[in-house]
Amino acid sequence: MKPPVFEYMAPRTVEETVRVLGAAETAGGAVPLAGGQSLMPLLNRRRVRPSLLVDLNRVADLDTLIVGERTVRIGALTRLRTLEAHGPLRTALPVLHDTVRLVAHPQVRSRATLGGSLCHADPAAELPTLALALGARLRLASAGGARTETADEFFAAGGTSRLPGELLTEVEFPVPEGFRFHFEEIPRHAHGGFPLVGVCVGVRRDAAGTVTHARIAAAGAADHPLRLTEAERALTGRQLGAPDGVARDVLDAATAQASPPSDLHGSGAFRTALLRTALRRAVTTLNGQETA
Ligand SMILES: Cc1cc2nc3c(=O)[nH]c(=O)nc-3n(C[C@H](O)[C@H](O)[C@H](O)COP(=O)(O)OP(=O)(O)OC[C@H]3O[C@@H](n4cnc5c(N)ncnc54)[C@H](O)[C@@H]3O)c2cc1C
Repeated sequence: MKPPVFEYMAPRTVEETVRVLGAAETAGGAVPLAGGQSLMPLLNRRRVRPSLLVDLNRVADLDTLIVGERTVRIGALTRLRTLEAHGPLRTALPVLHDTVRLVAHPQVRSRATLGGSLCHADPAAELPTLALALGARLRLASAGGARTETADEFFAAGGTSRLPGELLTEVEFPVPEGFRFHFEEIPRHAHGGFPLVGVCVGVRRDAAGTVTHARIAAAGAADHPLRLTEAERALTGRQLGAPDGVARDVLDAATAQASPPSDLHGSGAFRTALLRTALRRAVTTLNGQETA
């Protein structure tokens, strides 16, 4: 199918972008276009019918990457391929580098953007899950000003907290001191598509190897990217390498919080079983790494 008829604008600054987004939202619907890897299929299937398409690709201020000591700040228009190829980012936040490489294929990653992935917020997507586990902060701009949301606030059930007329401009990832993170996924195909289930686990351990802090989030485990706070609590205060592997109550806590969907790729019960497997694998991998 062909997309519906729409107006097209390609602003060059953030200020101009939020002005046209705000004006058109009230006049019947403006949609930002980033890499187009999700939006173009939606337009072609007429699942989205904007009056105005606002192309972000000429807004240079959205294509930024600053690696600091405590935080990494990434502009919303930064391509996944850029994240994958950035040496200092890989050193500062290896789990971001490793997780980006799990997303789609190189062709898709050369167009898709961080902001597009977070705003599309597919429940099975890797980067929203990573943003939850890392405790990312999202900067949103509109004609009325700017505000910051935590990833926990942004990924509300069934969508995001982004308001009409708002533009995601930047994502700030803390560089968590003393933490080790690992993203484990069980893909639908050998590689390159959305996972059936994915889990990102981060732990900080003391000198004796006891977990003092845990961060866990899952993809494909609900109708939105899901932070597994109960499993975090269950993992805290434990050794990762219990004689019988990952403690059953950690897995039980994760599955109690999850409500995976059933679709043609697998039932909810199947995904629940896969969530336990992915979580067990992630914790086992972290256990094989030295404490920081
Ligand atoms: C073959 C294929 C395989 C894929 N496999 C995976 C996979 O394995 N894992 C995965 O996570 N994803 C996968 N994807 C999806 C792909 O990663 C997403 O399409 C991409 O993340 C969306 O980013 P984009 O820049 O293309 O956004 P777009 O498609 O341009 O936009 C997506 C949505 O976000 C909005 N938006 C974009 N930028 C902003 C902004 N700055 N502020 C406000 N709103 C904004 C748009 O209006 C739109 O609603 C796959 C896609 C394809 C085509």
